[in-house]
Amino acid sequence: MTLMNAHQYRESLARRRPMKIYLDGKRLENPLEHPSVQASVNSVALTYELAHDPEHRALMTARSALSGETVNRFCHLHQSSADLIDKVRMQRLVGQRCGTCFQRCVGLDALNALFAATFEIDRKFATNYHERFRAFALAMESNDWIVDGAMTDVKGDRSRRPAEQSDPDMYLRVVERRADGVVIRGAKAHQTGAINSHWVLVMPTVALRDDEGDYAIACALPADAEGITYIYGRQSCDERKLGGDAASAIDSGSACYGGQEALMIFDDVFVPNESVFMDGEIAFAGLLVDLFASYHRQSYGGCKVGKGDVAIGAAATIAQLNGVERAAHIRDKIIEMNHLNETLFACGIACSANGTQLPAGNWFVDPLLANVCKQNVTRFPYEIARLLQDIAGGLMVTLPSAKDWLNPETAALLRKYLAGAEGSDPEERIRMLRLIENLTMGRGAVAYLTESMHGAGSPQAQRIMIGRLANVDEKKVYARSLAAHDDLEGVEAAIRTGLAGLRAAKAPAA
Ligand SMILES: Cc1cc2nc3c(=O)[nH]c(=O)nc-3n(C[C@H](O)[C@H](O)[C@H](O)COP(=O)(O)OP(=O)(O)OC[C@H]3O[C@@H](n4cnc5c(N)ncnc54)[C@H](O)[C@@H]3O)c2cc1C
Repeated sequence: MTLMNAHQYRESLARRRPMKIYLDGKRLENPLEHPSVQASVNSVALTYELAHDPEHRALMTARSALSGETVNRFCHLHQSSADLIDKVRMQRLVGQRCGTCFQRCVGLDALNALFAATFEIDRKFATNYHERFRAFALAMESNDWIVDGAMTDVKGDRSRRPAEQSDPDMYLRVVERRADGVVIRGAKAHQTGAINSHWVLVMPTVALRDDEGDYAIACALPADAEGITYIYGRQSCDERKLGGDAASAIDSGSACYGGQEALMIFDDVFVPNESVFMDGEIAFAGLLVDLFASYHRQSYGGCKVGKGDVAIGAAATIAQLNGVERAAHIRDKIIEMNHLNETLFACGIACSANGTQLPAGNWFVDPLLANVCKQNVTRFPYEIARLLQDIAGGLMVTLPSAKDWLNPETAALLRKYLAGAEGSDPEERIRMLRLIENLTMGRGAVAYLTESMHGAGSPQAQRIMIGRLANVDEKKVYARSLAAHDDLEGVEAAIRTGLAGLRAAKAPAA
């Protein structure tokens, strides 16, 4: 049983076969040596490091339901509401430590979603996907793998369904079925941490119809499988890290950590049967998407809150360095930032506390509350960022380069004119402003803002689910019964009758 540490994780990445990775117009021969990749690997490595930290080990690890052994919680099939809550607390902790995306949630959420979905497919079709997936899950936790969750297709014309696209590869699909496996083609967009992963779990991105069986494919692939090409995502201010000197370290805002997204192209990739977990079962594509989306919407009630903690800390610190920390409106704005951030955390905890056990045995979040959580995440970090920029002041975007700060010709001028609160260190002020710029406009904003908006589905996806799950008909029964009756017995009877009518209408026909 492996519980890797950060060093072992880095070594395990280096042992992968050469991968086809492009960044900035060039193929990377040694991806792990590129500063952008290194910063993103550092963020993932934290998930290993903290699992060995005596202070955090209990939260970062769990007892496996498959083997009984201690595993990293990022590889764990949730066994209770308490497990779901600990997942959110763990994500907040790691978010606080790196202030960016640590890339490991998506695989954890795909693990739990596929465990449940394969169980349901087998129940209906007597297939053996669940047994295969159990073997994968056991391998994932015992090897402590990072697993990329590859759901989002590139989708071409959004007004058309997969089978209606003029190029059928706009959604990943099976192009050949052989006795020993399938061949897949297509691309997955925005793949978080894909290049830092050991394996990839491929899933469909939408519910599918009868003529879309080739798109109903879920499978596992080693990240270094032949036929996969990765094209690294460009991010705002990403060149700041590349100088490799003291000035670029200051100007990058957060020199050590970064996130990672890539476009991932599957050019006729072979998947052996033992790694196929759905092939053509269109009726279950929607279930798999809903399971994954709910788990992932819960995740954001933890990871974004950790980054919010960094944003609030930065607001309080820059206020102090600017000499305004006692001003009433600044204190009130920091209270508001905390209120918003803790509301997100409350949603993450609530959908976990209301979790239920699935027929497959693992635990599932309350999907309505998970969608409410993510809908709030599409808004509150933006408001927190707005308040942070308000408190920071305009210097955040007009600050001279750190090269000028370090240049003897301009250093004294800048030290004099960039001074802040009496007795404060101007370099600390510069560094804090760069961190704020990074979090709200630079690479960090990818993880804190845009990922909050679109990751785990754009806002409208949550509104559709809230509309579906909120049970407005039941609420109408309460309102109608209270309005129509003036006596207690009448109200109670009307509610009982109304609810019974709703249940009968929803019951499957005999
Ligand atoms: C930083 C980041 C990390 C991510 N990480 C991962 C990952 O690791 N794995 C993964 O699988 N995915 C990942 N995603 C993808 C994420 O789930 C998608 O961005 C999201 O589902 C939206 O899809 P899209 O980006 O293609 O935008 P679009 O689907 O193009 O949406 C853009 C807008 O168009 C609207 N729209 C789209 N289609 C329709 C339609 N048919 N009718 C009406 N309106 C429509 C949407 O509501 C939205 O307002 C990540 C995204 C980001 C930004």
